[in-house]
Formats: sequence, structure tokens, C-alpha cells
Amino acid sequence: MAADERTRLEKRLLRQISQINKEFGLLEAGDRVMVGVSGGKDSYALMHLLEHLRRRSPVPFTLVGVNLDQGHPGFPAHVIEGWFQDNGFEYRMLKRDTYSVVLDKIPEGRTYCSLCSRLRRGILYSAAQDLGCTKIALGHHRDDLIETVMLNLFFSGQLKSMAPRLHSDDGRNVVIRPLAYCAEEDIAAYAQMMGFPVVPCDLCGSQENLQRQQIKAMLKDLEREHPRIKGSMLAALRNVRVSHLLDTDLLALKGLSFEEDESLAAL
Ligand code: SF4
Repeated sequence: MAADERTRLEKRLLRQISQINKEFGLLEAGDRVMVGVSGGKDSYALMHLLEHLRRRSPVPFTLVGVNLDQGHPGFPAHVIEGWFQDNGFEYRMLKRDTYSVVLDKIPEGRTYCSLCSRLRRGILYSAAQDLGCTKIALGHHRDDLIETVMLNLFFSGQLKSMAPRLHSDDGRNVVIRPLAYCAEEDIAAYAQMMGFPVVPCDLCGSQENLQRQQIKAMLKDLEREHPRIKGSMLAALRNVRVSHLLDTDLLALKGLSFEEDESLAAL
């Protein structure tokens, strides 16, 4: 990738982060933001880009990178620690053996992810409190958001994605997702260009959730014929017409009634 192409890519990612930051007030003066760095491309990019933003931001905030070693055999925590050190980041390395717990509790052949990520979340939420952090930044990006909306639509009877900013389930923390407008392919290209030491994500021996794999494959197929489809889906998440949905609680909340539905008026 040529240098100007790299600069353009970095600028685009920073612009998208700045946009969502402005729209949802993700980073506020005095924030101490814990960045979960798992060793995947998304979390490295998140830490790196937030540091870029922090340096030029008129709003003062600080960052601390946190890696959690969950005890998966061969997990190379030293690689991630080395990256934190080489880049001069404040960081903490945590180690909790959730891997044994998951192996013990989940019957063979079933996917570990649900319990594994629940345990991870709990540990990270506690760490954020111990470190005096006001926010926890996670590396979910545009493709995660649109896959999640499809998963919920197809398999759980809900119309919901992932919020860019929300209070955690236990009410103890504010979780933010600064990469929510960034395309996964841009992040992957950026990670490659920056030479982030990406840790393989199959050490746990679990398979990615089958339904998510199906959704990814479906989107990939559709994207071949309609290259802008993911952009359109993200735009749709920012452009919800409550009056044209069927959630009576939401309609009541917005003070809307079926009579006000312009599609009916046009009949
Ligand atoms: S892929 Fe492995 S590490 Fe990731 S959530 Fe699933 S079980 Fe945990």
C-alpha cells in the first residue's frame, strides 16, 4: 500500500471515529478510558487510533490498555505486552483462568463463546473500576453492528444492534464503541499496514458461532452484487422510521398513532 493511500485510510478511520464521538459524546473531558486489547486487529487499531485522537484532542482524556489472558493454551501475552511497551502506552496485563471453567461447564461439542465472553466481561468491568476508569472502549466495528442486527432479526425476534454508548448490564460502567462506523476491511488493511502483532483467535479451540458464520457468508455473497450494501445497512441503523414498524410501546413513546402513518394515508 502506497504511503498516500495509508494516510488516506488513517484519515478516514479517524474521521469516522470523530464523527461518532461527536454524535454520541463518547469521549468527555477528564475521561480515563480503558481499552480492551485482546490481540485481535480491531482492538490494536482501536488503541492506536484513540491515541492519535487523544494527542490532538482539545478535550483532555487518558487511555489505559488492558489485556486479559484467559488461560488458553499457548496464549502469547508477552506479544501484546511488548506492543504496549514499544508504543509507550499505559497498560495492565491481567490473567484469570476462565478457560478451565469453560471446559468444565460446557459439554463437548457446544460452543464456548457465550460463557467465555460473559466471564471476560465481568473481569473487565471489575478491572475498570479498580483502575478508576470512567469508560470502557471496545473494538466492535460496522460489520459487527450489521451482523448483529441480522442475527437478532433472523434468530431472536428483535430489531437491535450494538449501541455506540451504553451503561453495562450491571450498571457499573459506561461502554463505548468508537469504531462502530468503521468498515472491517478498512481496519484489516490498517492493521496490516501498521504491522500489528495479531494473535490468532483459535487458541481456545472453539468454533465461531454457526449462525454468525452464515450471516457473514450471506453478506459476502450479497456484497458481490451490491457493493454498497453494508454502507446502506449502517445508514439504515441511523435512519429508523418508528412509524413504519410494529412496536406499539415505541409508537406510544413517540406519541405516534397508526392514523399518522403516511403510507396508510397514501392508500
Ligand atoms: S472464540 Fe474463544 S476466546 Fe473468543 S469468546 Fe469464543 S471461546 Fe472465548
